[in-house]
Amino acid sequence: MKSNSRSYEAIIIGGGPAGMTAGLYTSRSRIHTLLIERGLLGGQMTTTDLIENYPGFPQGITGEELSRLMEEQAKRFGLETVSDEVMEIGLEGDLKRLRTYESTYYCKTLILCTGTEYRKLGAPGEMEFIGKGVSYCSTCDGAFFRDRQIMVVGGGDSALTEALFLTKFAKEVTIIHRRDAFRGTRIYQERARSNPKIKFLLNSVVKEIKGDTVVRSIVVKNVKTGEEKELETEGAFIFVGIAPRTQFLKGLVDMDEAGYILTDAHCETSVKGVFAAGDCRKQLLRQITTAVGDGATAAFAVEKYLEGKE
Ligand code: NAP
Repeated sequence: MKSNSRSYEAIIIGGGPAGMTAGLYTSRSRIHTLLIERGLLGGQMTTTDLIENYPGFPQGITGEELSRLMEEQAKRFGLETVSDEVMEIGLEGDLKRLRTYESTYYCKTLILCTGTEYRKLGAPGEMEFIGKGVSYCSTCDGAFFRDRQIMVVGGGDSALTEALFLTKFAKEVTIIHRRDAFRGTRIYQERARSNPKIKFLLNSVVKEIKGDTVVRSIVVKNVKTGEEKELETEGAFIFVGIAPRTQFLKGLVDMDEAGYILTDAHCETSVKGVFAAGDCRKQLLRQITTAVGDGATAAFAVEKYLEGKE
């Protein structure tokens, strides 16, 4: 295919670690590639304070810095990137057609790296107070809660790591979790338990988030006793799991019931020439390490696919 502005051998949707690794590999293999990202390159890494479990950085590395390094490395090999959002994908024979806000693109191969987003709690008041005390991003909003009392909802790695991060600003952080056992990794549980600023409200679910112009209180119910109480607070950070960003791909590729994309071991989806990598793919572990591994596999599979076609 001729290198022109709208046609590519490979298009990657999503610029998190999976997408940027796929872009590094395809570009380094001289495959004409475009990466489309609607937000910031780095994806969820950009809102992660410290990354401790990505090999090569024994003291950890900030998400912002790791994103910057991955971008620099991929672009050194010629990866093109564009800030845009894909609205619709169609198939025209072997070609894939992508309609974005700004334009239309064609490609021979497509790598879906759309990642996940934080799930909503679904409690009354949650949507009303987004940006007014309800948040899904502590690196973005944590500093607004200096010396305040805040709540973190959830019991996984996100809730624990974000609660730990929020203690840099808040005077007290209460973790509200619906069970008495945490899903999150033991090392984060230990750190949270030994942090004097962190309190726990276990076996409890959020019934409502209340306020006026901003959040003022949260109503919780103890699932064991049925007792309900209203607790004063100024912020509610919600980390109750993740959902794949694959809504716009429904009908294009096969997915499981939760919307995670099904692939074979080569990251190929149910559609020939369409691959998926990273958190949006159905798999056991969703970390930066697994995302970059997927990105490399998908890129290599793209190369093999293109060789077979030419
Ligand atoms: P997660 O592991 O799915 O945990 C979600 C938590 O929210 C669970 O404790 C769950 O409770 C609770 N929950 C779910 N729905 C709820 C509801 N409606 N009401 C109240 N609580 C609810 O999600 P995550 O913590 O966002 O992590 C997602 C992935 O990212 C995981 O694979 C995690 O390991 C990874 N991650 C890794 C790191 C790290 O390695 N540093 C940091 C952040 C995230 P139950 O336990 O009762 O189901």
